[in-house]
Amino acid sequence: RSKTNDKRVLVIGLGRFGSSLALELVAHGWEVLGMDSSPRLVQAYADALTHTVVADATDDEALRQIGAQEFTRAVVAIGTHLEESILATSLLVDMGVPHIWAKAVSRRHGRILQQIGAHHVVLPEHDMGERVAHLVSGRMLDFVELEEDFALGKTRAPRELIGLKLGESGIRSKHGITVVCIKRHGEQFTYATAETVPQKGDVIVVAGKTNDVERFAEIS
Ligand code: ADP
Repeated sequence: RSKTNDKRVLVIGLGRFGSSLALELVAHGWEVLGMDSSPRLVQAYADALTHTVVADATDDEALRQIGAQEFTRAVVAIGTHLEESILATSLLVDMGVPHIWAKAVSRRHGRILQQIGAHHVVLPEHDMGERVAHLVSGRMLDFVELEEDFALGKTRAPRELIGLKLGESGIRSKHGITVVCIKRHGEQFTYATAETVPQKGDVIVVAGKTNDVERFAEIS
């Protein structure tokens, strides 16, 4: 069994998160086996996903019957049912599934999933809440924290950059951030160079330490 060309994913839980993820994978050419204990949900996604099955992910026998141990990648998209999420994840870990993503509803839940062996833990609501907070509270147009203390922010070019070559603006030493992309009104984003001269109304994407990106978005 070749694992390099393996484009199959097992998605457990077809709630809002699991179903969106499963549909997106299918749209990108992945083979998805969607599993949920709710016949109604499985019915709803039967046509859109490659395979669907009604089964209980906390049942070791049921997981083996659908061949869960054969998958290279699995996502446990059960959130609110903590016990089920933890049990299903630990069964997949026991089976030796090499790449397990698990959705957590809180940091504590996430910590448990990590401790029992999930390889990737995602906190969609928590992360999105933090992200939207940056948009609501400031002048940021978009914000993504890529890791602890490193972020990308989308904002309007501040006055101090207008008409100056980025390479001569001293922006990196002054604010600790790097302008990575720029977008003129009505145009598409393009990468920024030392020669780029921002104009009034341009939108820029900056990268740097989270605090620096946040602070930079507040200047005008
Ligand atoms: P979301 O917020 O993304 O909608 P939920 O936690 O509400 O996530 O939904 C998770 C899904 O997981 C539900 O559709 C539920 O039926 C399913 N689910 C819960 N427990 C199990 C289980 N033991 N086996 C299979 N599916 C389960």
